[in-house]
Amino acid sequence: ESELKRHIRGIPDFPKPGILFYDISTLLRNAQAWKAAMAAMAERITPHRPQVLAGIESRGFLLAAPLALELGLGFIMLRKPRKLPGATIGLDYALEYGTDRIEMQADAIAPGQRVVLLDDLLATGGTMAAGVALLRQAGAEVPAAAAMLELTFLGGRRRLDVPVETLLTYD
Ligand code: IMP
Repeated sequence: ESELKRHIRGIPDFPKPGILFYDISTLLRNAQAWKAAMAAMAERITPHRPQVLAGIESRGFLLAAPLALELGLGFIMLRKPRKLPGATIGLDYALEYGTDRIEMQADAIAPGQRVVLLDDLLATGGTMAAGVALLRQAGAEVPAAAAMLELTFLGGRRRLDVPVETLLTYD
């Protein structure tokens, strides 16, 4: 864990004053670190026996797509509004200030398919909780969610009713 943490930097006052933003760009730049992180994620995810992996735009895609390929699974996108073609379903969710919305294609999932949801980082858990709810609305069974980083002091996993697998924790 600490070996991988060396590749993550905290950037103060981004995107707003007072916020310490954990940046995975420096990990992705390093071939060995990225590979090791993906292998560790795969190990945590496979016991949940997913049939499909879903990623949350946009850094969630950077984890979910290569992991799906590696595990021989399909990949689906949870996107910001009005990005996806065809029939979509969406969910509005509350942020600290205001609201946001995620969407997915209405026919992306076969009824009862086991979908594990991925994002880069779990903070308050609002984004991940919305993703789980939307996947269920689409007919998915969601055995778990996963993120590379977790800001434990924000208690995000308490907002989720599925196990959350995370690699690196910050408190
Ligand atoms: P939450 O909804 O509060 O859990 O926030 C999680 C979402 O915000 C994820 O989609 C993250 O990509 C993004 N996010 C929040 N804080 C950070 C951070 O420090 N680094 C990178 N992404 C972050």
